[in-house]
Amino acid sequence: MLESIKNIVCVGRNYVQHAQELNNPIPQAPLLFTKPTHSLAEANGRELILPGNRGQIQYEVELVFHIARRYEPGIKVDDLVDQMAIGIDFTLRDVQTELKGKGHPWVLAKGFINSAVLTPWQPFAGLGTLMTIDFSLEKNGQEVQRGNMKNMIFDLPTVVEYTAMHLGLGQGDIIFTGTPAGVGPVLDGDMFTCKLAEQGLGSCIIKLTK
Ligand code: ZN
Repeated sequence: MLESIKNIVCVGRNYVQHAQELNNPIPQAPLLFTKPTHSLAEANGRELILPGNRGQIQYEVELVFHIARRYEPGIKVDDLVDQMAIGIDFTLRDVQTELKGKGHPWVLAKGFINSAVLTPWQPFAGLGTLMTIDFSLEKNGQEVQRGNMKNMIFDLPTVVEYTAMHLGLGQGDIIFTGTPAGVGPVLDGDMFTCKLAEQGLGSCIIKLTK
């Protein structure tokens, strides 16, 4: 499922309460960044190796959408998106804070190997239905994050149009749409389970390198 993915676009600070928990201003336009495809990994119940020697890693659970065809102005999201997954945007938070302070790009904090985790693809539920169901993340069996698409600062049609205008958007691209409040640290041995509408879609167990 990962080999056919082309570009990985992510939206930062797309939920008010998450922007506030990190003391970040609420953006005026979608805050986009990308990850290399080497960052992709499946939440397949197995061990996932993350760097243990570059400061704190934090989890960010997100709705992720798979683009089915080339974007054209006016196309409806329901025609553009064919599949969805729950993803974890693992972030080297200390590295990111340092990079932000220097005004440098975030790629080293956001684009490391195994930093873009995806559950198996699900059929796209449609914008209307998605507003009525929550996504969530469990850490070691306890819920740590819960979100709903209706609380996005920039909704999916806006994110899609903005991405297409500035970066291009086509078949095989995926979009991580931002994380709700509740991000926190990742420790060696933690197990994460991504859920949609209270149903577990995929898990991973973290192994931190020395
Ligand atoms: Zn994120």
